[in-house]
Amino acid sequence: MGLCVRRLAIAGVLLWWVSPAMRAETPSGTDQPAARPATAAEAKTFTDEAEKKLLQLWIEQGRADWVKSTFITDDTEILAAQAADRSISAGVQYAKDATRFDGLTQPADVARKLKLLKLSLTVAAPSDPAERAELTRIGTAMEGAYGKGKYCPTKDRCLDLEDITKIMATSRDAKELLDIWAGWHAIGGPIKKDYVRFVELSNKGARELGFKDTGAMWRSKYDMSPEEFSAELDRLWQQVRPLYVSLHAYVRWKLREKYGDLVPANGPIPAHLLGNMWAQTWDNVYPLVAPKDADPGYDLTQILKSRYTDPLQMVRYGEGFFSSLGFDPLPKTFWARSMFTKPRDREVVCHASAWDIDYVDDLRIKMCIDITAEDFTTIHHELGHNYYQRAYDQQPVLFRDSANDGFHEAVGDTIALSVTPEYLVKLGLLDKAPDTSKDIGLLLNKALEKVAFLPFGLLIDQYRWKIFSGEITPAQYNKAWWDLRLKYQGIAPAGARPEDLFDAGAKYHVPANVPYTRYFLADILQFQFHRALSKAAGCTSPLNRCSIYGNAEAGRKLRDMLAMGQSKPWPDALEAITGQRQMDATAIRDYFAPLQKWLDEQNKGKPVGW
Ligand SMILES: [Zn+2]
Repeated sequence: MGLCVRRLAIAGVLLWWVSPAMRAETPSGTDQPAARPATAAEAKTFTDEAEKKLLQLWIEQGRADWVKSTFITDDTEILAAQAADRSISAGVQYAKDATRFDGLTQPADVARKLKLLKLSLTVAAPSDPAERAELTRIGTAMEGAYGKGKYCPTKDRCLDLEDITKIMATSRDAKELLDIWAGWHAIGGPIKKDYVRFVELSNKGARELGFKDTGAMWRSKYDMSPEEFSAELDRLWQQVRPLYVSLHAYVRWKLREKYGDLVPANGPIPAHLLGNMWAQTWDNVYPLVAPKDADPGYDLTQILKSRYTDPLQMVRYGEGFFSSLGFDPLPKTFWARSMFTKPRDREVVCHASAWDIDYVDDLRIKMCIDITAEDFTTIHHELGHNYYQRAYDQQPVLFRDSANDGFHEAVGDTIALSVTPEYLVKLGLLDKAPDTSKDIGLLLNKALEKVAFLPFGLLIDQYRWKIFSGEITPAQYNKAWWDLRLKYQGIAPAGARPEDLFDAGAKYHVPANVPYTRYFLADILQFQFHRALSKAAGCTSPLNRCSIYGNAEAGRKLRDMLAMGQSKPWPDALEAITGQRQMDATAIRDYFAPLQKWLDEQNKGKPVGW
């Protein structure tokens, strides 16, 4: 989900497996039993060396990746894959070698670095070479199967995910939507056998590193026990659930007006009618559910176009936002090396992303900017990543990342929440902000994106954690998936989904093995950050009208948090910006309070819940 991809540091997302060729190059320290107990001095030397080596490999990988993403050819793809292999195999080896210092008393920063090295993996390969090779093969095969996934409604017409996404977003033909939905979900079934084996092997590797299973390894990243973290997520979900249930009831009623009895009056919403293959965000059905007087009274896209705003000026607006908070201007290299427009002479990855090539200040964004309101906001979001990256560049290498994996996306989105009508007035793009009676349409649109997402953001890992722990067995993969979809989202498939299907496999992050809880956390945290910074800025308007633009105090709070990187447990970073040490979903409730009131009025006398 989300607007952007940020390049991940250690043991990345896509290429976590280690190719056999690369593995031969890395030292195999853990295979030899240690001759004598390790010392604290050796631990320090070990982390120093790891930081030096990894930094060098990450920079190489970054450069290769940048060239590949801005000039896609067979050669640049191979070079980027090779660089990724090198840095990832080194990361895997350091993670394993770090266990040598388990149980040793040492300074807090060294202990934290060793822990981060061990937790950097999303999958731990078993030490048995044959099993490692098998895991590598399975990982590649699953992601490959997903990437090549197509649905062919007829012999001569095949649709890839991009085509399918467009149809899901725009079609209002229930029959066509169901056909496309079922067609895409068919890619899951063939992946199931591999996934079952993947779970066995990755669990074995996780146990060798001292974790109960792969799910417990993922949950250990959050500076608390896996059990405490699970309980935290439950607590946050209970805080926000009433808002979701109200939104669900309203949308169900409006969809029932459109699609009739296909949508039950008081049961779950059919999964194929929400404008998105996974029903994870619902903003594509906004036109079907929009309130009558939804026009906010201005159209930023039109305003930008009528002023002949160019892509460079769009980015200058974004930089101006951060300068107004007291951040230094972007370096000259940012303007020279970024990609702002789609080149006419070559293939590029247009998906917006923020980069920090040298982990100091070689910051860049890569975007094919259109002059639209959406891209105006996205630029603010991407620059949020860049300013975060630069703020922690004084930290030791292993601490140059966000406080936990939810924080980076949350910061970008926090900045985007400050793109309000009042901000546009200050930029001179708008004469006068419309009064707040016009806000319901905007709030509803945003809720269809950010509130509708929450249960989905939560359940993907609830599901996988249960699979990794053995609570869900392969015989129940599909049933358990739909049980959770019903429980959290109030969504159901339009027909039977037997166990020869594997519907979770039709979502990228499952076959690609990318943890998902970070997106749930980011969704919660961005509103908590926004509320705290708005308060620091002295804003007394409704939260959706608060912008921190131009406020030095909010800027200082933000900068203090960003500069910590991941040097400290994340509650410390959260406290620096919000004064709270716990995540708190009441902020998202506060932000949408006017919408909640409106939804309650609309839902009066109608069924709520499922
Ligand atoms: Zn982002």
